[in-house]
Amino acid sequence: MTGRSDLDAEVAIVGYGPVGAALAVLLGQLGRSVVVVEKWPEPYPLPRAVHFDHEVGRILQACGIGSQLREIIEPADIYEWRNAAGVTLLRFGRVGDSPSGWPLSSMFNQPTLEGLLDERARALPTVEVHRGVEVDGLEVDGSGVTLRTAHRGDLRARYVVGCDGANSTVRGAAGLALRDLGFFYDWLVVDVILDDARVFDPMNLQVCDPARPTTVVSGGPGRRRWEFMRLPGEPLELLNEERRAWELLAPWDVHPANARLERHAVYTFRARYAERWRAGPVLLAGDAAHLTPPFAGQGMCAGLRDAANLAWKLDLVVSGRAPDSLLDTYERERLPSVRASIDFAIELGKVICVPDSEEAAARDEAMAATVGPEPSDVPALPGIGQGLVHPTAAHAGELFVQPTVDGRLLDDVGGVGWRLVTVDTEADVPDPAALEWFAAIGGRVLRLPPDERVGRGWLARHGANWALQRPDFYLYGTAAGADAAAELLTDLRWRLSAVPRPLQGAHP
Ligand SMILES: Cc1cc2nc3c(=O)[nH]c(=O)nc-3n(C[C@H](O)[C@H](O)[C@H](O)COP(=O)(O)OP(=O)(O)OC[C@H]3O[C@@H](n4cnc5c(N)ncnc54)[C@H](O)[C@@H]3O)c2cc1C
Repeated sequence: MTGRSDLDAEVAIVGYGPVGAALAVLLGQLGRSVVVVEKWPEPYPLPRAVHFDHEVGRILQACGIGSQLREIIEPADIYEWRNAAGVTLLRFGRVGDSPSGWPLSSMFNQPTLEGLLDERARALPTVEVHRGVEVDGLEVDGSGVTLRTAHRGDLRARYVVGCDGANSTVRGAAGLALRDLGFFYDWLVVDVILDDARVFDPMNLQVCDPARPTTVVSGGPGRRRWEFMRLPGEPLELLNEERRAWELLAPWDVHPANARLERHAVYTFRARYAERWRAGPVLLAGDAAHLTPPFAGQGMCAGLRDAANLAWKLDLVVSGRAPDSLLDTYERERLPSVRASIDFAIELGKVICVPDSEEAAARDEAMAATVGPEPSDVPALPGIGQGLVHPTAAHAGELFVQPTVDGRLLDDVGGVGWRLVTVDTEADVPDPAALEWFAAIGGRVLRLPPDERVGRGWLARHGANWALQRPDFYLYGTAAGADAAAELLTDLRWRLSAVPRPLQGAHP
């Protein structure tokens, strides 16, 4: 064992991709001491994710990069699927307002986003980022974890979060097994910067051509992404040649005289997840915990939801305001959502990845018959079923909206944390002790002004006047009046403190 290093922290994060960076920022903003170790000396320069959804927009806003984020995204409206003859098979609609104050779908460039997160993380006084440090093992003891690193000696932390990607060293060292759903296909991913701006209509297109299933989407402002499925028997090394990328781009009028190839690489799209995301003080997040085929554009999104779910829990536990058992709710809350998004991506993939012309013709006939005049909704992910939500309160576990106050998004006005949001401009929660405790966990009561529309509209439609929202924007529950809102706080306090509840009754 090498000597102790200067890298000790409350939370150590292994891996500085988007998930590790976002988690570092969220924890750092809460004042936690965080050390991040990343094996590569320089950021990964090439694009991978190109899409995120409205909830993830709000999570990134919570990371303090909201205004810069607006500058680097291209809101996406329609995602259309066509067959080889150009007949529409499916149109997903992504137009209009979203619950979270961000476009329903945004297209972006992953290295640019990671640059924003890095800048933010490095501005936080309690966050240290060390590049060029590879973790090669870990040991757990009664008071925390020792991380073994090849270049900087040992690192001690109370908790370690493995955000170290698909081949996670942390996952292996903690003995957390992966379940493989047996769905995998090779795709050539080609990122292009066109010399001249061009309008693509629809912005995002899936060509369900059995001769070459192809994805054509925005890669963020100024960029385009093409993905070409490897056909059965097609040699991998031929598909991976630059010459082949240009050949496949030629039918799209994209060639070396009008475009620059940012990169081309063959990826194997997989569907796998860890069945346990926690081994004592060691936790997993992002691709280390789950991998999805990218057909629904949800891999990084799921990882950022992990970060949003975990950050405030680690903060409460590390600071002694909640028991360690709170961290057990993390996997329980996140895994069903991750499973649903992987299953959805596999369903999409089964439709897309069809190289057989007869099978494709039957698919096309069935799908074309169902296309209506209006685009279909993108299915919502499930909320939180089991975990830290009220067991019986209305709308517990649902994603809450982000209200707008005086033209500004609520989180920019009122910050992020536990929020008791109400349309009641006068009534006080009749329990000062509960409110004092609420303030101690970073909670605030936010009264929506009479002319506010988004939050008031949501509450009116759902028959509630009070909403207790968690720091990751999911509802602990809603209530009709101040008494019932106080009861929500008391219930939360009971669950977070893990002491016997003073009230008799309804809870197991
Ligand atoms: C072609 C493609 C398209 C995609 N499209 C989308 C999309 O549109 N939308 C979407 O949401 N997602 C998409 N994804 C998925 C998305 O890119 C990933 O889910 C995301 O990058 C995962 O982030 P992460 O931080 O968990 O892991 P990573 O980005 O993989 O970062 C892990 C980091 O850990 C470091 N590391 C690994 N081992 C160690 C170690 N032992 N010690 C120290 N550091 C270590 C690595 O160097 C790396 O920097 C796509 C992926 C691909 C490949």
